[in-house]
Amino acid sequence: MKLPSPFEETTNSSKPVQYRVYAIRAVLAMIMAFLIAQINLDYVESWLYDFRIRSQLFQRTSEKIELVYIKPSTVQAFKGQPNAKDQTAILYNLLAAHPRAVVYDFAIDDAQGSEEDKAEWANLIVQSTNVYVATPDTPLKGEERSLYLPLPFDHVRMVSAPKTSDTINFAKDRVTRRMLLSYQDSMMLPVTLAGFYNPDVLDFRKIRGYFDFYDTKQSFIDYRRPGSFPSTVFDDLANGKVDWTKFEDKIVIIGTDLNISESDYILTPYSRIPSAMTRIEMQANIIDTLIRNSSPVRMPTYVNWILLTLISILAIQIVLSMSPAMGLVILVGTLTGFSVISFTLFWLFGWWITMAAPLLAGFLVYYFFIPYRLIIENRRSWEYYQKNKLLSQVEELKTNFISMMSHDLKTPIARIQGMTDVILADQVQLSTQQREAVDTIKHSSDDLLKFISSILNYGKIQSEGVELHMQTKDINNVLQEVIRKHEFLAKVKRIQIVSELEPLFPIRMDPDLMRQVLSNLVENAIKYSPDDTKILVTSEERDERVVIQVSDQGPGIPEDELNNIFMKFFRSKNVKSTQIKGSGLGLYLAKYFTELHKGRIFVESKDGKGSTFTVELPMEQGGVNA
Ligand code: ADP
Repeated sequence: MKLPSPFEETTNSSKPVQYRVYAIRAVLAMIMAFLIAQINLDYVESWLYDFRIRSQLFQRTSEKIELVYIKPSTVQAFKGQPNAKDQTAILYNLLAAHPRAVVYDFAIDDAQGSEEDKAEWANLIVQSTNVYVATPDTPLKGEERSLYLPLPFDHVRMVSAPKTSDTINFAKDRVTRRMLLSYQDSMMLPVTLAGFYNPDVLDFRKIRGYFDFYDTKQSFIDYRRPGSFPSTVFDDLANGKVDWTKFEDKIVIIGTDLNISESDYILTPYSRIPSAMTRIEMQANIIDTLIRNSSPVRMPTYVNWILLTLISILAIQIVLSMSPAMGLVILVGTLTGFSVISFTLFWLFGWWITMAAPLLAGFLVYYFFIPYRLIIENRRSWEYYQKNKLLSQVEELKTNFISMMSHDLKTPIARIQGMTDVILADQVQLSTQQREAVDTIKHSSDDLLKFISSILNYGKIQSEGVELHMQTKDINNVLQEVIRKHEFLAKVKRIQIVSELEPLFPIRMDPDLMRQVLSNLVENAIKYSPDDTKILVTSEERDERVVIQVSDQGPGIPEDELNNIFMKFFRSKNVKSTQIKGSGLGLYLAKYFTELHKGRIFVESKDGKGSTFTVELPMEQGGVNA
């Protein structure tokens, strides 16, 4: 039995009730959304954020940045890290290539060399306006002096270019996702450098997605895949294996990649291994993001709220109104759709929509409300079950009552029939009127008896009390008997019964029940056919079966009723209003009795063109349960 869903409105419920149900659901969804918003999902969100970055397929850089690495091979080539003299020589060559800027992003004061060499290098740095020395430190206002290096580098100006990792905020996984734009209003080096190509970024308000964070201004890094920026090994600069023209108009960042100090590396959305990316590649990513001004923008809180609430409302609506399987499909579809949209918006516009909370809302709401729905549905089906039980009890009571009544009626009717027979057999002359009266009594009591027998049989079927009394018999004999019995009825309507019976082997059957089946077919044929027509009764053997057919030239059976005529109490629309009497049980009993014999009964008929009823019985001995 299909149960209506718990919140489904019945047809007579008014619109306001419907709206109230929706309103309650919306409030529930908002409560759920509020509760989910309290859960810290930063870890999941950071994973989804990183995944969005990693899955960007088409990436381009500004092509304004060149990296120069001091690698272990450099140390081998120079028999130690390049000293001040080497550095000075390389810087001369680099400056001759007219780069837009040269940035040292390592501790230059660690370099070996004589004091004069160091002083020469320091002087060259100080005199060249486009050479910068980056430091990871960010001094407080008034403490800028702390950035100066010891002699002879003391007059080299250092500029802050720190890294910002998520150590105590957001995902707390030490991954670098943000960049520092300014600290206490002093601009960070990457902003200055990016400003050479895109002066807009020198005004913070024009930097995409910038936000205040304590005393800093920050924005997110629009990462390019590791290795996206061209790089040269320092020793290649020294041994002349390099085309210096490639540095023209570029920002050249010189740094180390020695796998010694963890502080030379950062963890990125691409990888969380400790040496995932060098500091100078991070600087390149930061500067590049600023040149392209393409920082990802975190969507305002209200947008995320609206999405979270919408998904919660949708999930509740789905869970409470749809079938569980369909609901799950639609819910998963919706959440997938939401994810696809979130990813696409990130890829195309750099919009960062919070995904973790809405996804969790979808699943939580589903698992929260499914049990609730199950409880309601269970209660309903229990109520249905109880109602059903009551109905079948009433039905049983009715059947029993009818059987009892019919049984008790049978005896007085038999007595009436007996008495009428006595009167008719008596030689005493009755007046015509009296004779007609006695005939009517006889026919009416015959009808009544037939009706009562049908009801009694029906009662037996209902209580599964029909028993087969098998005998081996020629069915042609039963047929002839039935035809003989109905000849009088046929004669009244001037109907001719033609029988074509093939000689048959005797078969096992319950003659009483088969008599009832065949009687019903012949009687119906007479009953429903007009006067002056023919009825053909045939019997033959076909494929190990005995086939009996009763055809008439009656009104036929409309196509839409063909499937129903074997149902209990079914009577055609056409006959209900006519004078033809019947209980609608005859064919139901015929079918039941035939099937008890492992046979089948069916009808072929065209409306207005007569009907042919066929009964097929199996021939083999013992083919039926005795
Ligand atoms: P009853 O004859 O008591 O109504 P049956 O179960 O014998 O019940 O028949 C069911 C219905 O099938 C009938 O009411 C009648 O509409 C239709 N029917 C049965 N036999 C014929 C027939 N030979 N010709 C036309 N209609 C028939």
